[in-house]
Amino acid sequence: MLAVPIVMRIELANLEHGRADFAHVYQPDELGSFDDRVNLSAPVNVNGKVRLAGTEVFVNGHIETRAEVECDRCLTPIELPVNVDFDLQYITDRAYESSGAVELTEEELSVSVFDGEAIEVDEIVKEQILLAVPTRTLCRPDCKGICPDCGIDKNTGDCACGANEVDPRWAALRNLTGGKS
Ligand SMILES: [Zn+2]
Ligand SMILES: [Zn+2]
Repeated sequence: MLAVPIVMRIELANLEHGRADFAHVYQPDELGSFDDRVNLSAPVNVNGKVRLAGTEVFVNGHIETRAEVECDRCLTPIELPVNVDFDLQYITDRAYESSGAVELTEEELSVSVFDGEAIEVDEIVKEQILLAVPTRTLCRPDCKGICPDCGIDKNTGDCACGANEVDPRWAALRNLTGGKS
């Protein structure tokens, strides 16, 4: 992954009265590469609020964009709308350690630990988009996929290699019954 400059970082020391509103439209390349699966196909609109309360920071807001992923079976690009509301809670690493909660993971506490200085909006945006994209995607529920032998997209045409092929659903049944058909 290429390092990209940080676009939005909210320094808590600069908050007036412990709160701030934020909003930004990220161009897809401002967020750098995501992971191998997800590409952004539209700018990312984010807006939200930060509120500081003692050693805790609350961040909530909304993210809107479109993401492109490939069909798991035929690799056709699929565009998905992403609309996420997020509501996050952070505590400083020092407060986390002194809370005696160190045996609990961040997940169990449903809070994130941060350095106490700044909230990285870029990271929130990336994380929330990845959480919003389903881990399995099909271009349509009955996508036939790609022939492993000749590479033809079986949604658009048939090939000769499939002659001895069994419908995968029947193959699964046959495996269940121990290979007897
Ligand atoms: Zn497909
Ligand atoms: Zn084939």
